[in-house]
Amino acid sequence: MKTRIFALIITILALTSALNAQERPQFRGMGQMQKPKFIFYFIGDGMGFAQVSMAEAYLASQKGEISNHPLSFTTFPVSGMVTTYSASSYITCSSAAGTALSTGVKTNNGMLGVDPKGNPLRSISYDIHKSGIPVGIVSNVTIDHATPASFYANSNSRNNYYEIAVQMPQTGFEFFGGGGFAQPTGPDKDQKDIYKVLEEGGYTVARGLQEYVSKKGAKKMALFQERGKEADLPYAIDRTPADLTLKQVVAAAIDHLYSAKGFFIMAEGGKIDWSAHSNDGLTTILEVLDFSDAIDVALQFYKKYPNETLIIVTADHETGGMTLGREKGYELKLNELAPQKRSMAVDKEGTPAYAELNKKANVGWTTSSHSGVAVPIFSIGPGSRLFSGRMDNTDIPKRILAILGLQQ
Ligand SMILES: [Zn+2]
Repeated sequence: MKTRIFALIITILALTSALNAQERPQFRGMGQMQKPKFIFYFIGDGMGFAQVSMAEAYLASQKGEISNHPLSFTTFPVSGMVTTYSASSYITCSSAAGTALSTGVKTNNGMLGVDPKGNPLRSISYDIHKSGIPVGIVSNVTIDHATPASFYANSNSRNNYYEIAVQMPQTGFEFFGGGGFAQPTGPDKDQKDIYKVLEEGGYTVARGLQEYVSKKGAKKMALFQERGKEADLPYAIDRTPADLTLKQVVAAAIDHLYSAKGFFIMAEGGKIDWSAHSNDGLTTILEVLDFSDAIDVALQFYKKYPNETLIIVTADHETGGMTLGREKGYELKLNELAPQKRSMAVDKEGTPAYAELNKKANVGWTTSSHSGVAVPIFSIGPGSRLFSGRMDNTDIPKRILAILGLQQ
């Protein structure tokens, strides 16, 4: 009997270690890997391979060249492809993708930070925060929107904006910043002002960069646009010099969070998706370039601390079914987009003038929703080699935790 039990234990042990080896072959040799102290997790909402290629072609076309002018993040030494399907569809929505990217679990489209049965899931930002690393959540769309929200909230519907927003102060995360709120006083405008809720929860709320500077030193900071400017930050194409930018918010997050404890910053370029839903080529290109500018702030930081900084750049899905080409022919004429001066511009008759320009330029679109194609991932710094090759969106948060020696 004893021998049989002993044999059983040996079999179970052998099976478990075989399973472990099968489950996580990519983590082999992690012992020698240097642990990053500062982690940037950039998510370009709707930024597929085509959006990246289009932005690179646009930069080349500005110089009159037929080429692809690299963005700094596309030259990162490690890259790969990420599958994006959700639990309910080949074509994910941002909340299901955000949940996968933040918790490592797939859920149904429309659900946020919960599994398909509605059970709450834990974002890796909580595990990281619990380990003593300060956390910052940044986006240029509203901070209660699907992608940023999936890093701090749980809700059966991504549209429960107020229910999502009131979860912010409960996190204790050290920094929130970017766009404001979709429903600052609730869906029926009868709830407590969310900025008050944040203040009562121990957050110093700064409206605009000047206020941020004057309130520096606060323990927990929430930075939004100046009073009177609500919701999402303006599109790059519509921006005035007085407007807050994603790049500035990322810089503020670094400034606020920087300490010997390190930090974890999730920053979303959320409006690539919005302009791609409208099939607006030039606005989408300029949003990718704007997102790239924000990543450059992290890259500057990386250059100071190359042995301690990990930057990951990926996307939640592709939007618009964008293509470099249209219907028939081999020409892309991006200079035809030049007359467009603002986002979703319409002509006097009220028809979208940008649609005509997209046609002339041969910028193709196949849907006004998302597509189910894989998206790119680029990374640099200690731990980056875990983000090489083919992976699923649920692998990314698991690998971030593994790099930090944390388990969910
Ligand atoms: Zn979308």
